[in-house]
Amino acid sequence: MTTFLYTHPACLDHDPGRHHPESPARLRAVLAALDDPEFARLERSEAPEAAREDLLRVHPRRHVDGILGTVPQTGHIAIDADTVLSPASGEAALRAAGAVVAAVDAVVAKEADNAFCAVRPPGHHAEPQRAMGFCLFNNAAIGALRAREVHGLARVAVVDFDVHHGNGTQAAFEADGTLFYASTHQFPLYPGTGAASETGVGNVVNVPLRPMAGSSQFRLGVTQRILPALDAFRPELVIVSAGFDAHRSDPLAQLMLEEADYTWVTEKLLEIADRHAAGRLVATLEGGYDLSALAASAAAHIRVLMSA
Ligand SMILES: [Zn+2]
Repeated sequence: MTTFLYTHPACLDHDPGRHHPESPARLRAVLAALDDPEFARLERSEAPEAAREDLLRVHPRRHVDGILGTVPQTGHIAIDADTVLSPASGEAALRAAGAVVAAVDAVVAKEADNAFCAVRPPGHHAEPQRAMGFCLFNNAAIGALRAREVHGLARVAVVDFDVHHGNGTQAAFEADGTLFYASTHQFPLYPGTGAASETGVGNVVNVPLRPMAGSSQFRLGVTQRILPALDAFRPELVIVSAGFDAHRSDPLAQLMLEEADYTWVTEKLLEIADRHAAGRLVATLEGGYDLSALAASAAAHIRVLMSA
């Protein structure tokens, strides 16, 4: 059984500025954890840049050109209060999206059983027409549409356990019944979307959780709301928006999960992938802002992927 790991040095060079929580140190912490001998079996690949047509399946030309045209030669340019570009941001964003595209190609071709994309910037807040919340292009959605339109998969699901609601993925998917989006997230919290009443065309499942919800409420929401809907959808590919900021140590939220919860939810998602998608699962890094919790949680998640 093979798990691919996609990353690229450019993802370390994207620099939203000193004191920004979405720092290069996050990815360094994840990669350092994966240097442990237990992860030696990971098949490591350099993330390619996403092709323009891959981006254009999710984002209009104006958005793609706007982001890439705004990348500064020196210094920083802020798109909004949270979302900042540095000279390396364009390549990093293309590599982050390209990692998910390449991972989708690899699992569909059966070169890998599953894959983890250790990339930044993250993607799930990026709406088709708007970059926001540290996110420039929606990496998970770009991978999903690649799977559907290039590989002809009939149904693709994105499951998002980042502590924030993936408003961008929901916006990209909510009118299209061949796509499915499910999210657990702290609510209320940035970006303010993700109420349980937001259901798309019956293809969106939102499980808002109160601050301090903890492991039991998280597992209850996944078990009662997300897994049955995902099972009924019968995805031919599962993409995971793997943010680890619901961890109890995270400074940006208070959902109080632990590493064991990431192990558990990864096992559950692999069961669904095994049942409906020949095991095909691609995970991509979203948030996670306490460096040691992020590293340990990502390691817990990838350990399960490798045991598939
Ligand atoms: Zn987040």
